[in-house]
Amino acid sequence: MRVTRREFSKLGAMGLAARMLPVVSAGAQSGERKVGYCVIGLGTIADHFMRGVQGSSNSKITGLVSGHRDKAERIAAQYGVPKSSIYSYEDMDKFRDNKMIDAVYVALPNSMHAEYTIRSAKAGKHVLCEKPMSTTVSEAEAMIAACRDAKVQLMIAYRLHYDPLHLKAVKLIKDGALGKVQTINGAFGFDASPTAWRLNKALAGGGSLFDVGIYVVNACRYLTGEEPVKFTAVTSTIDQDGRFSTMEENVSWTMKFPSGVLATGSSTYGAQMPGYFKVFASKGWMEMSSAYGYDGAKLRASFWGGEKGSPHMEIDEASTEKDPVQFTREADHFSGCVLNNKVPKSSGEEGLRDMKYIEEIYAAAGTVQG
Ligand code: NDP
Repeated sequence: MRVTRREFSKLGAMGLAARMLPVVSAGAQSGERKVGYCVIGLGTIADHFMRGVQGSSNSKITGLVSGHRDKAERIAAQYGVPKSSIYSYEDMDKFRDNKMIDAVYVALPNSMHAEYTIRSAKAGKHVLCEKPMSTTVSEAEAMIAACRDAKVQLMIAYRLHYDPLHLKAVKLIKDGALGKVQTINGAFGFDASPTAWRLNKALAGGGSLFDVGIYVVNACRYLTGEEPVKFTAVTSTIDQDGRFSTMEENVSWTMKFPSGVLATGSSTYGAQMPGYFKVFASKGWMEMSSAYGYDGAKLRASFWGGEKGSPHMEIDEASTEKDPVQFTREADHFSGCVLNNKVPKSSGEEGLRDMKYIEEIYAAAGTVQG
């Protein structure tokens, strides 16, 4: 039986949708109702995620997909994953019959996200996919369609959507504490190694905007609660050292929001650029530095409480949380959605919006991506 998304929401309200979604396997739950994750691609971010899952009350690692069997066996032993639940990229689809695997975590280079999300959905697995969701808008749309058709949940791993300090920053603006926001400024970047897949456009999709600039684009959207409508942008490459033969080194952009808020952002693969955002509003300002890291973020703000002039409020708050707690929270959220048939806060549609804005920014800069 095929149902549209609208019909499906209606069924949800009637308590019937649950019956149509893949049931979390009894094996994975074993009385504890834990969602079993198969991690696809065992690199840096997968390590953070797997450590994070260890702190989760409703998630566990139950499968691995890797091009390196030795590494996968070592990690499997660490997380108690049976050897029979280790797959290669070629034979991964066999996990369709593995009742211990309810969901996948796609932690591959950007251009592989679409293929592995779609294959996982077709195998009946819920999908938590790393950002950027894909390398083109059309891929992102195909991922959403595949998950919808397979009736599995799709979440994009925007871990900061669940971070208390970011949520506090959003609330300060939403509650009007800062007054009317006028401009936002943000940046994020690093000096990329010449051997990184990130400098290979076929794997990365494009430059630092896909990888780290996306944090700034996304933050400006959740801080304002608006969607940008106009874009200007410019790119440049300073280092002629062979690293930037397929992509730009630097990109700066402006986004105009419907309220008139102007957000400017920059990202780079040529300099250490600690991530931050600064918000300037009618009653004061707010900034977060180390805004996009795994821990150690600081929120500072200074604004007038009532009439201009008095009383004066100051916020100077450092997060005391340590890596990998952001990943624990991310896994908790997605597993909760899988167990309760809820659409994740950072859904596929949310990832798609950023893909559209990335394409707009590159188009404004006169650089064709994808
Ligand atoms: P890594 O290079 O550290 O890991 C990627 C893994 O993908 C590799 O270890 C490898 O696993 C697998 N892989 C398969 N094919 C290839 C290939 N052709 N080239 C390279 N690796 C391949 O990357 P990251 O973990 O840093 O990034 C992975 C994804 O996570 C990216 O989309 C990135 O944007 C995102 N990311 C998200 C972050 C966040 O905070 N949310 C932070 C960092 C990255 P194996 O050896 O097991 O086959």
